[in-house]
Amino acid sequence: MSKRVLITGGAGFLGSHLCDKFYNEGWDVICMDNLLTGAESNISHLIGKERFQFIKHDVTNYIVVAGELDLILHFASPASPIDYLEMPIQTLKVGSLGTHKALGLAKAKNAKLLLASTSEVYGDPQINPQNEDYWGNVNPVGPRGVYDEAKRFAEAITMAYHRFHDIETSIARIFNTYGSRMRLKDGRALPTFFRQALKNEPITVFGDGSQTRSFTYVDDLVDGIYRLAMSDESEPVNLGNPEEITILDFAKEIIEITGSKSEVVFKELPEDDPQIRRPDVSKAKRVLNWEPKVNRREGLLKTMEYFKNQVG
Ligand code: NAD
Ligand code: UDP
Repeated sequence: MSKRVLITGGAGFLGSHLCDKFYNEGWDVICMDNLLTGAESNISHLIGKERFQFIKHDVTNYIVVAGELDLILHFASPASPIDYLEMPIQTLKVGSLGTHKALGLAKAKNAKLLLASTSEVYGDPQINPQNEDYWGNVNPVGPRGVYDEAKRFAEAITMAYHRFHDIETSIARIFNTYGSRMRLKDGRALPTFFRQALKNEPITVFGDGSQTRSFTYVDDLVDGIYRLAMSDESEPVNLGNPEEITILDFAKEIIEITGSKSEVVFKELPEDDPQIRRPDVSKAKRVLNWEPKVNRREGLLKTMEYFKNQVG
């Protein structure tokens, strides 16, 4: 009998890559998604396969899954800043009510739950790099607070179910990840810059571009999630690539890689935009024997082909 995994948010960018990974590792995969920001096209190649099932459902409502479950990967949530700024209530609901429902299901099925948390729990960090012991610097009432606080609550309730109900749980603090199946217009810097560069349009850098990010290629992230799911680590683990770059240099890098004629234009910096972000991944190395293998240039070159097709 193969093992069964439920992936909430499975029709999204990361969720669909995880559907592929677990399917290819021989698991029975149930993908659950309400298609709020995801798309059936991300999983169309799996639909109709014997070990794959798609259930359209909003996980903030009671979740019903027939049969046994070994694992739940809870990835449902708007994830790009423009998505969660446009959908603040859905974001808060899926991080709180949705995580509660997913944990209730894990308890009922005696399944392990892995929560997709985020580097945003560190807010605008005052230390660099960020390690898992840092408690963060989040503005709870700012516009980004809907995402950051939903994820912080999700972490807290996950730990409470672990401690109080003895559920097996893991928490992945995921840093900016990129790759195929990202939406061209999700507003995140990487797809936006690729779209603009490939069309020779101005590249919109917010603020003076001195803020930093560290970008992780999707295959590395998926490998890290798989290892974490198989481990018995219940405290949060950072998963990200420590190669840090300013957003201005990143814009120039995309112009160079695409051979674009685009120029950089500067726009207003969004409120509470973190000034620095870089993961300390020594814990992931220690407990999962994981570290990213794909450097930024290599990953961007791979991803450029996908974006070229999207731009048409
Ligand atoms: P995405 O928007 O592509 O995927 C999210 C998926 O969740 C979508 O398919 C959406 O339809 C679904 N969803 C949203 N609300 C739902 C609900 N109430 N019920 C059922 N499905 C719902 O985003 P992504 O980049 O793939 O992110 C996936 C997860 O990883 C999110 O939880 C996000 O917070 C986390 N994460 C992502 C990154 C990143 O860089 N991509 C970084 C940190 C954390
Ligand atoms: N950003 C930018 N231009 C854009 C989109 C984003 O300069 O068109 C900046 C944004 O202000 C942030 C960084 O790029 O400082 C990364 O933004 P993204 O939305 O990709 O992810 P975040 O890490 O902020 O969640």
